[in-house]
Amino acid sequence: MTSLKQLGYVAFDVKSVAAWESFASGVLGMQLSSRHSNGALSFRIDEYAQRMFVEPGELDDLAAVGWETENESELLRTVERVKNAGRDIEEASREIADYRGVKRVFRFRDPGGVPTELFYGPTLASAPFASPVITSRFVAGKFGFGHLVLSTDDQLVSQRFYVDVLGFRLSDRIVADVYGYKADLSFFHTNGRHHSVALGAKQKKRLNHFMVEVESIDDVGLAFDRALKAGVKVTQTIGRHPNDGMFSFYAKTPSGFQFEFGAGGRIVDDASWEPRTYNQISEWGHHPPSVIGSGLGTAVPVKQPGTFTGGSEPRGTLVEIGDRLAMHFHDVGVGPPVLFLHGSGPGASGWSNFRRNFPVIAEAGFRAVVPDTLGFGHSSKPETVDYSLEFLTACLKRFVDATKIDKCAIVGNSHGGALAIQFALSHPERVSKLILMAPGGLEEREAYMKMEGIRAMIKAVRDPGGITKESLRRVLKLQLFDESLLTDDIVNERYEVAVTQPSRVMASLTVPFLAPELHRLEVPVLGLWGQDDKFCPVSGAGALTTGCKNSRVTLLSQCGHWVMVEHADYFNRACIDFLKFGI
Ligand code: FE
Repeated sequence: MTSLKQLGYVAFDVKSVAAWESFASGVLGMQLSSRHSNGALSFRIDEYAQRMFVEPGELDDLAAVGWETENESELLRTVERVKNAGRDIEEASREIADYRGVKRVFRFRDPGGVPTELFYGPTLASAPFASPVITSRFVAGKFGFGHLVLSTDDQLVSQRFYVDVLGFRLSDRIVADVYGYKADLSFFHTNGRHHSVALGAKQKKRLNHFMVEVESIDDVGLAFDRALKAGVKVTQTIGRHPNDGMFSFYAKTPSGFQFEFGAGGRIVDDASWEPRTYNQISEWGHHPPSVIGSGLGTAVPVKQPGTFTGGSEPRGTLVEIGDRLAMHFHDVGVGPPVLFLHGSGPGASGWSNFRRNFPVIAEAGFRAVVPDTLGFGHSSKPETVDYSLEFLTACLKRFVDATKIDKCAIVGNSHGGALAIQFALSHPERVSKLILMAPGGLEEREAYMKMEGIRAMIKAVRDPGGITKESLRRVLKLQLFDESLLTDDIVNERYEVAVTQPSRVMASLTVPFLAPELHRLEVPVLGLWGQDDKFCPVSGAGALTTGCKNSRVTLLSQCGHWVMVEHADYFNRACIDFLKFGI
């Protein structure tokens, strides 16, 4: 799907056009373009004849968002998609198109009720842009006007609409506490600008803020001075956002909603961009002015993007879950959340278990959240706790609370399967479906101790010389029916994590006998088991079918303990089908 070209213009319905005139030119540094016969004003920030309309009215809110398409046929194709998505969309009159200064324009409301316009063919100004006050230039042109943070009725519905119908791509997400306010924002791009739109929770106005960007940070400072001089109410001091890297401040427009004025926004290259979730809204700054002189509390630095040394794993996000513990996770995609819980072999992590799976599931329209269990991957590994299933379940509860996942489907492999079952039993209101690949806890302890893979694993972790790449390779080979699938990459990645794990993790990892509890699961269960599993006895597949009220269990031939690795395509299809349609 081709995406929209850019955010072409914005229009505001304002009580005082006069106040906006001096604000737009005097504080923001825009150039007055036209005085329209309906009493509206339009302003320029670049070669486009009109980028911002200020229209007389009573709302003091966003009046229209104008998205530009590449050309007429692209416009008509987008209009068709909006129609097919069940939204009423109509072409505006010639008179309105002339007022906007565009060739054709269609109007509809987005799922959050935001008046939205699709157009092509903007009028370009005949004279060069000249700001009354800006010393550098606005960053606009092919990147569009700037960005908007919009209110939604249902964040998921709006996110899907912007991605599936309008062709936006997810840039990243911020889930953070901001001075007692829970921010949960998804950022989307349609050209190189990090985001042209962000979607947040429902609020009183259609718009949280709009942003304009300039080339120089001095122009940000100068705008801050002008805002102070004009008596504009500053709402957030100068700061920098971790995701788009914007150096900016926030203040109130004459209509009461905020604007952001910034510089240095990041450019997104789709070929190499991986969406991440941040747990802070700002790396530093962006404080309400009321905290000046009263103390800020402790700031937690945000991890920079990149990869972990040695492996191919991109850096995810760390979220604090209390008691000085943090969990590392990957978070990609937009849609109903699906939590992936990995197994417990030495060096295990969400990435090593599910790297072939979670991006595909995300692509199919889900939010894939892949945490590292405490003691594993890049999460905290305290040496003073017992890694019992009870403790890890409690930590997982704190994790889903911290990442604002209300209800999710859980995919669990081996120990992660046992954790998924225990979590669903302890917190049934938070779980919608379970996908279990050879979950633990379905046999008494003695049955596991007889398994070749478990015996090899215990031997490797109890070796007085510590775990080596060779002993790890021997254990990992036993996970697979086809040993040739075990690459050096997997061994190295797991080894890098294994050497950071205190011996207490494996020594205190315990799983109770869960089979007698399976009948208490109310959710649909998809079970998958490899017939050649050397870690969890294949008899567990039968325990799932007889124990669960509502299950479908598939036994795979020529498959070991890692169904999702050895039969990744089959596994992904089965998951997507089950997640979308159930049993
Ligand atoms: Fe912003």
